[in-house]
Amino acid sequence: MILIDGKKAAAELREELKHEVEGLKAKYNKVPGLTVILIGDLTPSQIYVRNKEKSANEVGLKSEVLKYPDSVEEKTILEKIEELNKDETVSGILVQLPLPKHIDKQKVIETILPSKDVDGFHPMNVGNLSSGYESSVPCTPLGCYLLIKKVEPNLSGKKAVIIGRSNLNGKPMTQLLLKENCTVTITHSKTKDLKAECLEADIIVAAVGIPELVKGDWVKKDTIVIDVGINKIENGIVGDVDFDEVSKNAKALTPVPGGVGPMTIACLLKNTIECFKRSQI
Ligand code: NAD
Repeated sequence: MILIDGKKAAAELREELKHEVEGLKAKYNKVPGLTVILIGDLTPSQIYVRNKEKSANEVGLKSEVLKYPDSVEEKTILEKIEELNKDETVSGILVQLPLPKHIDKQKVIETILPSKDVDGFHPMNVGNLSSGYESSVPCTPLGCYLLIKKVEPNLSGKKAVIIGRSNLNGKPMTQLLLKENCTVTITHSKTKDLKAECLEADIIVAAVGIPELVKGDWVKKDTIVIDVGINKIENGIVGDVDFDEVSKNAKALTPVPGGVGPMTIACLLKNTIECFKRSQI
């Protein structure tokens, strides 16, 4: 079985991006800039943002984190986004989710200029992705896609089963694999026989949030399995795939941690650079 090393793949991607940023700096005499807005003091969000800032600095991006208390008014955030939209030194804007209840997530997402939407959540980017046009692609599915392509460069005609239909993961993942000419089945909480669907799959992407849902006997011998899940259990963190069982069966599998997670951040940097490049045309 191939253990898909997300840490290594992310380090390689960051190295590529670092060279790209050097080239852009030489060409334009400026570097792409990423601004992250962090509201409140949720520990996981703080850790994510710290990691994003560290990785952005590592590849040579200009990065800043704007921190606000939980009590900040929605209007303040929307006005700041408008200001960042106009700032030419800012290539990408990310508002770390989740947001406090009194702030309308969709309003925040739609205020970010689509051309600076490094998360790929703006309806314009969602539409462009599903129409097959150029767009920012949500970072986690983009990371999954790059990991799958490392194992199998030609995906044409493969049968992919996506577990979970969230806007963050399942739906954009579906679009990326459709674009590669996969036959994609998107499954969810109301799917009648998930095991039977998985047994048909050459590729499984599990983005559910249920610890070790996908079992060894759900997977064919030649299946590539990507585990997006991050689930806290008593003794640590596990994915949506039963690693011990599935690793005996699958062709390739991502571990949790050390699989999809590191690629998510590297793809955020990639998206920031893409936004910068498009803004220079
Ligand atoms: P979500 O809660 O928005 O969506 C979960 C999806 O799973 C839903 O579409 C639901 O229909 C489906 N589902 C629920 N129960 C099911 C079942 N029994 N069978 C089949 N489908 C079922 O979750 P999300 O935001 O997409 O996140 C999914 C998981 O991925 C979580 O564990 C989250 O922590 C993790 N995650 C990881 C990363 C990363 O960087 N690795 C990024 C984002 C999310």
